[in-house]
Amino acid sequence: MYLKTNISGIFALGEIVGRYLFKHSANHEAIFAYNNIIHYDNKIHVD
Ligand SMILES: Cc1cc2nc3c(=O)[nH]c(=O)nc-3n(C[C@H](O)[C@H](O)[C@H](O)COP(=O)(O)OP(=O)(O)OC[C@H]3O[C@@H](n4cnc5c(N)ncnc54)[C@H](O)[C@@H]3O)c2cc1C
Repeated sequence: MYLKTNISGIFALGEIVGRYLFKHSANHEAIFAYNNIIHYDNKIHVD
């Protein structure tokens, strides 16, 4: 999961993703969302 939404250029993280409803999950996803926005051609799946 690259945290992309179905709208081009829009990413999501945290509760709206709906997987793990914890603050530390949102923080973890933020690292991947940041990477995947900045390095769009080298996106990384959230583990
Ligand atoms: C009672 C309670 C206790 C919790 N305890 C823990 C805990 O002990 N440990 C833990 O890890 N997690 C806990 N959580 C979960 C934690 O609060 C969430 O996982 C975390 O806040 C998610 O962050 P978020 O940024 O995704 O969403 P949120 O913190 O909900 O932030 C979303 C933001 O978007 C804003 N927003 C909404 N709609 C719009 C709009 N249309 N336009 C602009 N802004 C908008 C909201 O006002 C809000 O500020 C708890 C949650 C609750 C409710």
